[in-house]
Amino acid sequence: MSSNSTQNVLDKAQQKCVSTGAKLTSKRSRLLELLIDSDKPLSAYEVIDRYNQFSGQSMPPMSAYRILDFLISKQLVHKLSSENKYVACSHITCEHEHSVAQFLICRSCQKVKEIMIDAGIMQGLAHSVEEAGYQLQSSQLELDCLCQQCATH
Ligand SMILES: [Zn+2]
Ligand SMILES: [Zn+2]
Ligand SMILES: [Zn+2]
Repeated sequence: MSSNSTQNVLDKAQQKCVSTGAKLTSKRSRLLELLIDSDKPLSAYEVIDRYNQFSGQSMPPMSAYRILDFLISKQLVHKLSSENKYVACSHITCEHEHSVAQFLICRSCQKVKEIMIDAGIMQGLAHSVEEAGYQLQSSQLELDCLCQQCATH
């Protein structure tokens, strides 16, 4: 059973999909729910495992990847490239525009926090990259951190 708050997020996610002409089907919704309820980022295989356990079915990896790609395209889920894992967006119920997501990843407990970094800082970063003769392919930052809890232990 989903908690009220999870249901709330799922309802909002459904609205966001509908507003772009898409639909949060029950499988898409279930995968999103798994990620919302997880306190750590999950790999595609962990997502599939949890889905299979819950549903008693077995989801082919290709379907899982397709669904995850859909959720990413709707900014309901983000992929952490450094970990090759997925997290639910923490701004699903927010009304504000979603900018490029930045992540703080605790190296000790793997808890992830999604933050929004000031656009000016990101522009400065892109500028430095260009000056070095490189082209920025993704401005999603994944920062190696210790969370407050782990830092005080
Ligand atoms: Zn997000
Ligand atoms: Zn927000
Ligand atoms: Zn931690």
